[in-house]
Amino acid sequence: MLKRIIYAFVVFAMFLTIPNLSLNFFEKKMNITSAAVQQKDSSKYANEKHEEINTTDVHEPKLIKVYNNKTNEVMVIDFEEYLKGVVASEMPAEFNTEALKAQVVSARTYLLYRLKKYPDGQPEHSEAPVCTGIHCQAWNSNNELIQSHYDGWYEKYWSKIEGAVESTRGQVLTYDGKIIEPLYHSTSGGRTENSEDVFSAAVPYLRSVESPYEGESPKLNSSVKITTSEFIDKIESVYGEMNMTESNLNEKIVLGEVSEGGKIKTLIIDNTEISGRDIRALFNLNSTNFSFIQSGNEIEILTTGYGHGVGMSQWGAEGMANKGYNYKEILKHYYTGVEIMNMK
Ligand SMILES: [Zn+2]
Repeated sequence: MLKRIIYAFVVFAMFLTIPNLSLNFFEKKMNITSAAVQQKDSSKYANEKHEEINTTDVHEPKLIKVYNNKTNEVMVIDFEEYLKGVVASEMPAEFNTEALKAQVVSARTYLLYRLKKYPDGQPEHSEAPVCTGIHCQAWNSNNELIQSHYDGWYEKYWSKIEGAVESTRGQVLTYDGKIIEPLYHSTSGGRTENSEDVFSAAVPYLRSVESPYEGESPKLNSSVKITTSEFIDKIESVYGEMNMTESNLNEKIVLGEVSEGGKIKTLIIDNTEISGRDIRALFNLNSTNFSFIQSGNEIEILTTGYGHGVGMSQWGAEGMANKGYNYKEILKHYYTGVEIMNMK
């Protein structure tokens, strides 16, 4: 018999509050054969101070320095050319052109934010303000992209990527006259997160908003199964003896705080408060929107969404674009109150 430890009410509640959501979920599934949508590691932001960057002196840099994590060299690349390798690495080229353009403007803004915040290099790579890994934004050279995709991918999609970059050349996102830090993630699971529920700072443009068109995301729902004893051992290996047994988990694990975006902020296990992020890391889950289902000596962990959930949902952007929204509408939906500015 199935015994729910934590009801999947989080997901259920979203269906109650977003009337259109259920209509758009689980429609047709699309086969994405290229690189999976990248996600950022939320831990890197956890201790990083959010800074405000004024737009008064923003000119588009011609060349930028990029630390190549694969070769350990500093590359000097044309600003807009570099963006093509980022977009091709951060979002499948099969996506709708308007979603790709939204990704370009986010990536360009993110790049500019990093260049302004770390003009002389970051602590992790002191010779350059950005790197080629997901620590900053994923970037691959044309040769690497050709090698990591199927034959004909480059011929089919490169001009589409170039078009998305060139048609938005110089465009960046601002809020209140400042360059924004446009975080993005793969799949929110129906609603994005307030920044302060995931990272420390409450950022006015990183607010929780509906993300109703993520039905095509392969990462919308996932599940892992482990034995009850493995489950208990894993938790107790970090938090010590918690008096959990196969028969008392239902009482021992209590839901604590849930964020506005529907992710679990805290769980209480045997009177100890544990963050959803720690549970996510412990079980290597796709997000903190999870629930446990116990069936005899087995636990199934169900997860909704993929990534930290803050800012633009890439699959949500794709879904909006397929519904007819343009890139500006997509960006203004996911980044509350922003403007799109042209760099000089
Ligand atoms: Zn980096």
